[in-house]
Amino acid sequence: MAKILLTGGAGYIGSHTYLALIEAGFDVVILDNFSNAKDDVPARLKDISGKQVHVYQGDVLDRTLLDDVFATHKIDGVVHFAAKKAVGESVAKPLDYIHTNVGGLLNLLAAMDGAGVRRIVFSSSATVYGDTSVQPIPEDHPCTYTSPYAFTKIAGEQILEQLPDNWAIGILRYFNPVGAHQSAMIGEDPEDTPNNLVPYIAKVATGELTQLGVFGNDYDTPDGTGVRDYIHVEDLADGHVLSLKSLIETNQSHTVNLGTGEGSSVLDVLNAYSEACGKKLPHQIKPRRDGDVAVLTARPEKAKATLGFEAKRSLADMCKSSWAWVNGQRRNSN
Ligand code: UDP
Repeated sequence: MAKILLTGGAGYIGSHTYLALIEAGFDVVILDNFSNAKDDVPARLKDISGKQVHVYQGDVLDRTLLDDVFATHKIDGVVHFAAKKAVGESVAKPLDYIHTNVGGLLNLLAAMDGAGVRRIVFSSSATVYGDTSVQPIPEDHPCTYTSPYAFTKIAGEQILEQLPDNWAIGILRYFNPVGAHQSAMIGEDPEDTPNNLVPYIAKVATGELTQLGVFGNDYDTPDGTGVRDYIHVEDLADGHVLSLKSLIETNQSHTVNLGTGEGSSVLDVLNAYSEACGKKLPHQIKPRRDGDVAVLTARPEKAKATLGFEAKRSLADMCKSSWAWVNGQRRNSN
């Protein structure tokens, strides 16, 4: 059974990927500093999987800890999520973002190289494509950054591209991951007022926020609101399993989009969520948000051809699973 180091494995996408890896028969060790994850996630992962969870609480910037992990476990591959991910915060704290995201990756790669582990799946993002009217976007579209966060993802990809042929590297460019695990026991859980659409709508559904502000209805899209390629977090997690399997089986590197190829507008998502929670959720049109583009959707064919990856879950599934998780959490805390 191959053993995988999952950095950031207690976070939103990391925790779902943990479960997908366990289900696929991998042995997994988590490394997470819990800066953006709840302390009870490992216990929840144990309840869902029925298996002991192996967690190191620590940072990818801690080389001594990384060396200790690689010396203790015979790791066959790494899935690297541990990074900062808020675009707005990256504008305010560019050095923090570069330190954690680029420095963390470098530190991890040096530790891996030292231990002779040369297989890595890297969390990248559709943000590497910048502001482009080419939609849906193919992987060979040029990369350009529009924020320090995006810079760190492009820099990470470019660092990985410098590694010699004895490395096998999976670069996964995520579109808009949403939804929660079918168990409703893990999901996205932002502490502050959410910046992202679905977590914000979820808080309107619970009554914590009064209404959704729709950022612009004068885009060149069917209903005037922004269009994105939302992908269920469990589909995204499955994409990581396929990426890792491909690296292990073929030793060939790949760079692929993980999206559905389908675009949904802000109002489409709001309506699907209203349907999922059984009440009409209010909204108000607001000015456009700085830095937003009209449309961002994936060309999904390469992931299918290279990995056999195809997103299976619908927008309705994404909203239903999000609501089951958020509503369950609210009931537990009352
Ligand atoms: N959006 C919105 N209101 C919000 C949050 C987001 O109208 O409170 C819109 C945003 O303008 C974009 C879409 O929802 O068109 C997705 O935004 P999100 O921040 O979730 O992801 P992004 O695509 O920006 O990474």
